[in-house]
Amino acid sequence: MAVRACGLIIYRRLQSAPSSKVTDGIEYLLLQTSYGTHHWTPPKGHVDAGEDDLQTAFRETQEEAGLQASQLTLIEGYKKELHYPAHGKPKTVVYWLAEVKDCNTEIKLSEEHQAFQWLKLEDACKFAEYEDMQATLKEAHEFLCSKK
Ligand code: AMP
Repeated sequence: MAVRACGLIIYRRLQSAPSSKVTDGIEYLLLQTSYGTHHWTPPKGHVDAGEDDLQTAFRETQEEAGLQASQLTLIEGYKKELHYPAHGKPKTVVYWLAEVKDCNTEIKLSEEHQAFQWLKLEDACKFAEYEDMQATLKEAHEFLCSKK
C-alpha cells in the first residue's frame, strides 16, 4: 500500500499589489527540506492513526510552518492528489489550497525544514523541481484566477 501524506498549498495576497489583476499579488509558500536533496515543497506529512486527511494537512502545516488553522482560509473546490515513488515505496500526497488571512503572518519552521520562501507562480515552479508539483501549482493558480 502507498504511504499517504496530506498538506496545504499555502498562498498569500500582497496587500500593496500594484497591478489591477488580483492574482498578480499572489505568492506561494514553499519550504526547503533539511533532509535528502533539500527540495522545496508545500507543508505536508504522513497521516496519523485516527486522523482524516484534512486534519493531517492542517496539523502538518501547523507543525512545519507554524500556521494555525485559524490563520488560514481553506479554499473550497480545490484538491489535488500526487503519486510518486519515495524511498522505494509508492507515495500518495493530497493537497488542498489555503490562503493566509494576514499576509504578514510569521512562518515558524520545524527541524524538518531549513528555509522558506514566498514565491510568485513562476519562481515557485522553478523552486518546485518536480513536474507534477509544478503542474499542481499552475492548476491552483488557474483555479484562483477563475474564481475572480
Ligand atoms: P517528500 O515526499 O517531499 O518527503 O520527499 C520524499 C522523496 O520523494 C524525496 O527523495 C523527494 O526528492 C522525492 N519527491 C518529493 N516530491 C516529489 C514529487 N512531486 N515527484 C517525485 N518525487 C518527489
